[in-house]
Amino acid sequence: MDVPNQSLPLETIKNLSHERLNAYLTRKDAEHACEACGAIHWLVDHNEGQIMFTFAPLVQNIQTGLVLLPLCCGNCFNVRFMNAARLTRSIIDWEESNG
Ligand SMILES: [Zn+2]
Repeated sequence: MDVPNQSLPLETIKNLSHERLNAYLTRKDAEHACEACGAIHWLVDHNEGQIMFTFAPLVQNIQTGLVLLPLCCGNCFNVRFMNAARLTRSIIDWEESNG
């Protein structure tokens, strides 16, 4: 299956560390209250030491799609999705600009 990745190798997204992701979420102030219950505690699931991403096929072409990062509310387990390729690209660009 062909996965669009905003010019990033899929491995670059898959190898994103929890520390780099947390720094990104803090920089973007991206952990606002859960829209379902109001809690402010988000969970990122891991598998074998790697952040768990998911894939959403496009209805126009199910052979391609988006790589998504699910953030799960720690209280009610509502799931919020972020575009993993775009946030990984943003992290790389920020790190290149800020050493
Ligand atoms: Zn919630």
